[in-house]
Amino acid sequence: MTEPENTALGDETKSCVERCNECGVCVKRCAFLQRYGSPKEIALNHRKMGSKMPFECSLCGLCTEVCPEGVDPAGLMLELRRDAVKRGVGDFKEHRPLLAYERRGTSRAFTLYGLPQRCERVLFPGCALAGSRAGRVEELYEILKAADPSMGIVLDCCSSPSRSLGREEEFIRVFTDMKERLLKEGVREVLVACPNCYKIFSEYGGDLKVKTVYEELTELDSPAGKIEGDVMVTIHDPCVLRDDPIAGNAVRALLQREGVRIEEMKSSGKRTLCCGEGGNAGAIAPEFAKAWGKRREEEARGRHIVTYCAGCANYLAHFARTSHILDIYLDPEATLTGKLKAARAPITYLNRLRLKGRLKKKLFNARIGERDAAIDTPPKKKGPSRGSRLKLLIFIAFIAAALFLAKAGGVGEYLEEARLRQAIESYGILAPLAYMLLYAIAPPLMLPGLPITVVGGVLFGPLWGAVYVTIGANIGANIAFLIARYLARGWVEEKLTGTKLGTLDEQVAKSGWKVVALTRLVPLFPFNLLNYAFGLTKIPWSKYALTSLICMTPGVIAYVTFSSSLLDLVKGKVSSELLIGVGLVVIVSLIPIIYKRLKAKRANLES
Ligand code: SF4
Ligand code: SF4
Ligand code: SF4
Repeated sequence: MTEPENTALGDETKSCVERCNECGVCVKRCAFLQRYGSPKEIALNHRKMGSKMPFECSLCGLCTEVCPEGVDPAGLMLELRRDAVKRGVGDFKEHRPLLAYERRGTSRAFTLYGLPQRCERVLFPGCALAGSRAGRVEELYEILKAADPSMGIVLDCCSSPSRSLGREEEFIRVFTDMKERLLKEGVREVLVACPNCYKIFSEYGGDLKVKTVYEELTELDSPAGKIEGDVMVTIHDPCVLRDDPIAGNAVRALLQREGVRIEEMKSSGKRTLCCGEGGNAGAIAPEFAKAWGKRREEEARGRHIVTYCAGCANYLAHFARTSHILDIYLDPEATLTGKLKAARAPITYLNRLRLKGRLKKKLFNARIGERDAAIDTPPKKKGPSRGSRLKLLIFIAFIAAALFLAKAGGVGEYLEEARLRQAIESYGILAPLAYMLLYAIAPPLMLPGLPITVVGGVLFGPLWGAVYVTIGANIGANIAFLIARYLARGWVEEKLTGTKLGTLDEQVAKSGWKVVALTRLVPLFPFNLLNYAFGLTKIPWSKYALTSLICMTPGVIAYVTFSSSLLDLVKGKVSSELLIGVGLVVIVSLIPIIYKRLKAKRANLES
């Protein structure tokens, strides 16, 4: 199994295939692997599992940690995500909210560089903490600044979302821009509160040193004094720091210094579990995200969870009583009595803007700056309604132009229905054969089928027109399908890159022939591309051919019936075929709208 176009992915798959003996140790701990199989199976068959598959993994690294053979399945998943982005099929529309969140975090409005004189160290609280616990960030900065008056503060985003979504180039560009700015401003050390920021700065920060605020706090006096009474908590270690115990040790030390008892969960430290937020997996597979959260809830067994990642704290709060270490450390009374509440979106955005405003006032003798990283979010892919509306508009425009030309050129009187059909009949079998041949080569050559359908209706009438169009169009659809399957796979894959059809394979894997039926009945996708796209899936040819034949027929009948009455229309007559044809075209055009409404309704019911 080699991946010549992507060395990193090739190395990861090779390592998984060679070293994974499918012992099942990782699989039994992970719902995602239970669905897709052992890492070896994924490495061998990932192309058949669909481009969204790696985005369902939370990148938590538990599999890598427990593997006795030293396999790194989490690394494989990240490389598969990067590969999907490189091929133009990932990320997905489900990731837009997170990318928009990241974009705001790096924008002029939300960023702040507050750098006092001779500032070499800055507090970098990260987006989630600043949004959900703005007051705590302000307090924390006060404490750090009291100990080191040259301490600065930077409100910005480390771009971890882009990195975990496989947008490596964008991540490097935006993070490097920030890193260079910090270094240029004379910053040498970044104090982070978020485990993801810690990981990013450690791996990519270069000359910038990174330290967690929790370590820093252990070196300073406690602000609140000992917590009274017998307080016991359990700790959730964020999965990104499973290999780095420094922050976890510091957090435990802080709690113990305050007199808090700690009972460890079954899975902690190196063997910690994902909270459910990891890798934005919940955007694609919410069931896996919930499964992680549930497992945390079970392991907590009703105990108060304390963690040191605002993302974890916010997500786990849906399952169990959870606080951020800074909640309990800075305001133990309100935290332990349940009075302290973390803010949720959209209030978090407001909090960040207000925090920025308050900090600016406090930093009166500091250099103040902002940044605008202009994160490049993926262009909105064309919505289905636009596509179907466009198709109807083209159809109307085509008919209007044909009618206008016929009228203007005075050809109307020559287009006598009976005379025209008689002329066609005089060619015998040759006319329909030539017509069907023309239609059969149109889909493989990606020629638009609509004008040929209209001509079929005009030349052969509603009945034989529908028969010949059905035969011709189906032969063409099958030729394109077979070309994609057996002759020109690479060319077709390239053609589909970046289109929605790049993920058709996984839909077919889940729902089989129903996907063919749906895409034929609901004309949301370009017909010509669809034929090729199905050739790349695993659907048997016979099923594809039969389903296409059955499900393309309603559309064919509608357009041919309508077209067959055009000669009457040119002559100013409104025939019954015309009315029936218009009615059928309207019904066919409504199918996508009805389908979208039903889909939205179902999504609402499920959410
Ligand atoms: S969710 Fe975690 S344990 Fe499961 S495959 Fe992904 S990284 Fe491994
Ligand atoms: S634990 Fe390691 S060897 Fe076992 S199935 Fe997982 S990756 Fe393969
Ligand atoms: S938010 Fe969840 S996914 Fe992120 S570090 Fe915390 S444990 Fe991991």
